[in-house]
Amino acid sequence: MKTQVLVVGAGPVGLTTALLLATAGVDVEVVDAGAGPVTQSRATDLHAATLEALRPSGLTDMLLPLGRPTHRIVVHSPDGPLGGYGTDLVRSAYPYILTVPQCATEGALDDRLAAVGRRARRSTRIDRLSWGPDGATAVTAGGETIRARWVVGCDGIGSRVRTDAGIAYRGTTYRHPYQLADLRAGCPLDADAVHMVLDPAGLVAVLPMHLEGWRRVLVQLPAGQRPADTEPLPDLLHHAERRGVPLQVTDVRWHSTFRIHRRLAATFRRGPVLLAGDAAHACSPIGGQGLNLGLRDAVTLAGTLAGVVHGRVPERHLDSWATARRARARQVLGWTDLATRTTTVRSSPGRWLRDAAVAATLRSTAGRRLLAGTVAGR
Ligand SMILES: Cc1cc2nc3c(=O)[nH]c(=O)nc-3n(C[C@H](O)[C@H](O)[C@H](O)COP(=O)(O)OP(=O)(O)OC[C@H]3O[C@@H](n4cnc5c(N)ncnc54)[C@H](O)[C@@H]3O)c2cc1C
Repeated sequence: MKTQVLVVGAGPVGLTTALLLATAGVDVEVVDAGAGPVTQSRATDLHAATLEALRPSGLTDMLLPLGRPTHRIVVHSPDGPLGGYGTDLVRSAYPYILTVPQCATEGALDDRLAAVGRRARRSTRIDRLSWGPDGATAVTAGGETIRARWVVGCDGIGSRVRTDAGIAYRGTTYRHPYQLADLRAGCPLDADAVHMVLDPAGLVAVLPMHLEGWRRVLVQLPAGQRPADTEPLPDLLHHAERRGVPLQVTDVRWHSTFRIHRRLAATFRRGPVLLAGDAAHACSPIGGQGLNLGLRDAVTLAGTLAGVVHGRVPERHLDSWATARRARARQVLGWTDLATRTTTVRSSPGRWLRDAAVAATLRSTAGRRLLAGTVAGR
């Protein structure tokens, strides 16, 4: 098979890239190793800058009815609230966090792709990729050869495309694993805000979900604990209660124990190979930035690549895209890393200083505006 653009990976970033390229009249194929879109809620938070980036393609209007807006973030210490901010401090047509489960986002993107006459080819794993100045050749696990002028690696954190392009993915894995659960639960914290509880034993975050009465709860586990040695739900409830967040659970949809990473690809372009989404960068979930960064990679890449394919802009614009998006990802990795590390301060003086700094920032209008703008992707 031959195509102008091969997108490897039909997660949210690959589907968005393929959809926008197809809409721009580019001959594009998208393949995925999995049998179908994800069935879990995974990344749920879409921020103002992402909704603005998706608006011209109509994708924001598609996503809005699937989600629920959240307007307030509150930070707590064990002694009570340190302060909070409203997302309306961000000047945007979308001054909120839209909570949409990733399975709904992927399902809607999949349907939209079908509506423009393309389908992701599922159960099609790329096992090998070779490339030269004029294009790339991918070989599937089934032995099929796909030749493409351009290959976009949207194949996630363990990207085969990135590995076979010889692009390093440097960074670290954090020492603290996390547990996450989507629960219908009674909880003393109000249901309309995102709550971050900075307990000496570790962070607890409680977030509204798109369904009435449901919450997402995220708990930081002790450093060095192996995910395999945990009992996901009982451990999460135990840690949350010990840190001042008792939960009266009546239903559970999904839970997961995982490690988190801070990693950045050495370049987002090598010859005909381009990287976007988790294949290019991985960041801590604190701040809910991973998917947002990836979706904005997709929008900007599709626009530039369509221009190159149609001969409207020179190829070097792809280098500018790669440099700009890598710089943006580096910035986000920097502040999410800082935010993650501040949740793990253990010494009493260190915690006192952190809490005083957080409270002072949240007391000043400039501080609240800065936080709101940073999280919104500005
Ligand atoms: C438990 C969990 C919770 C998360 N919570 C959040 C959150 O709250 N906020 C947030 O912003 N982010 C969160 N994330 C991260 C978020 O899910 C990712 O940032 C997002 O999915 C990245 O999208 P992507 O399309 O780049 O990659 P992925 O969603 O990982 O998609 C990659 C796709 O590539 C396919 N693939 C892989 N290798 C190959 C191959 N060789 N050939 C063909 N196909 C291949 C895979 O099957 C997959 O469908 C979470 C992730 C997990 C796992």
